[in-house]
Amino acid sequence: MKPENLFIAILILFLQAPRGAAQEFDRHFEDRTLRLDYIFAGNAKTQRIHLSEALSSSGWAGRRHNLDNLCLEGNGIIEVLEKGTGKVLYANSFSTLFQEWLSEEEATVSDKAFENVFQVPFPRKPVDIRVSLKDIRGNVTSSLTHPLDPADILIRPVSATSYESRYLLKSGDVSSCIDLAIVGDGYTASEKEKFFADAKRAVEALTSHEPFTSLKNRFNIVAVAAESEESGVSVPHKGIWKNTLLQCHYDTFYSERYLTAGSMKAVYDALSGVSFEHILVISNTPIYGGGGIYNSILTCSADHPTFPKVLVHEFGHSFAGLGDEYYYDDGYEPMYVPEKEPWEPNLTTLADFGSKWADMLPEGTPVPTPEDAVERENDVRRIWNSLPEDTRKRLNSHLGVYEGGGYMSKGVYRPVQECRMKINECEDFCPVCERAIRRTVDFFTEEP
Ligand SMILES: [Zn+2]
Repeated sequence: MKPENLFIAILILFLQAPRGAAQEFDRHFEDRTLRLDYIFAGNAKTQRIHLSEALSSSGWAGRRHNLDNLCLEGNGIIEVLEKGTGKVLYANSFSTLFQEWLSEEEATVSDKAFENVFQVPFPRKPVDIRVSLKDIRGNVTSSLTHPLDPADILIRPVSATSYESRYLLKSGDVSSCIDLAIVGDGYTASEKEKFFADAKRAVEALTSHEPFTSLKNRFNIVAVAAESEESGVSVPHKGIWKNTLLQCHYDTFYSERYLTAGSMKAVYDALSGVSFEHILVISNTPIYGGGGIYNSILTCSADHPTFPKVLVHEFGHSFAGLGDEYYYDDGYEPMYVPEKEPWEPNLTTLADFGSKWADMLPEGTPVPTPEDAVERENDVRRIWNSLPEDTRKRLNSHLGVYEGGGYMSKGVYRPVQECRMKINECEDFCPVCERAIRRTVDFFTEEP
């Protein structure tokens, strides 16, 4: 083929690709959202998935390409399957609080149930929906496949929320941008302006960190001023319980700083009619805490001084599926096993390191990589601010395969010595985390 013909052929392919993806979407789905509410229940040994309710709302804010691909493996997957053929029409991966709880001692002695809510594009024809949960080895531990007829009269249409919403960042149409919703808990009607000011600080925190700064034109961020009866959120270890809309509370799994929303259904109800793919819950409290679960929900406290740092760290979890790069020296319930490569892009067990940042490592880097003297001989968190700029830069960007990460001091490795996903003191994501975030943004916004 002549070079000019090749150019024309490539141009034609380029022009046709988006239309092809859009056609594929339109063939199977309406511009509507199907919300599916589930109960995940059980204990450490056996788990069950139950469908609780199906709801519908206008518009679809999610991707319209890469429909049957996953960005990351995750701890679970929801799939829309074509009737008869079983062909995957849409898939998305996620993690859940329920699965975190399964590694708690409590799960060995009692059964519990957790709400989980997912949104998929609204199918044009009857389909099957399959929800699967996986263990730390990647094996499916429980699965539910149920039929879904889009003409089912019991699919409840939801009307738009009456809470005031404001766009704090609007970069484009919901069909082409990543749509993030910020919703508050523990804000009374008279604290509406405080909520919008806190949400604005959240946007400033996110967009002041790379790679979000240079990618902000791919995001829409809307703030929804949900109203609670009482101001503040529940703090069980202090005996404080508040009547709030999303039932946010500390002491999740008896961990004082673990702040989560008590009702996922309430969170989605508060956002009904709003175009969103990712949820950020801001709690109106000065107490330190937060939490971020991949493709599920992010929670953080508005008035603690570390608010911007915690928020960006938790968004690393909830948006890009980044793992925690910190670890403990004591025996913790293992989250990773040597024979399985973690799906989190910034952790490795070396089971399949080639799929991780091997391509970014400087030639000759020893694996594992020894920590340098600053890291080895100090509690870096305490001296971080007194370290020279070039030392901080080196700890944050010199790539290696450093042992310790994912809550385990042995057998799990991280890409740098210090990162936004390791300590609050370190402002920046490491190069591996940064690439993972860029890849996530590309997956959701760029036609293949
Ligand atoms: Zn990192």
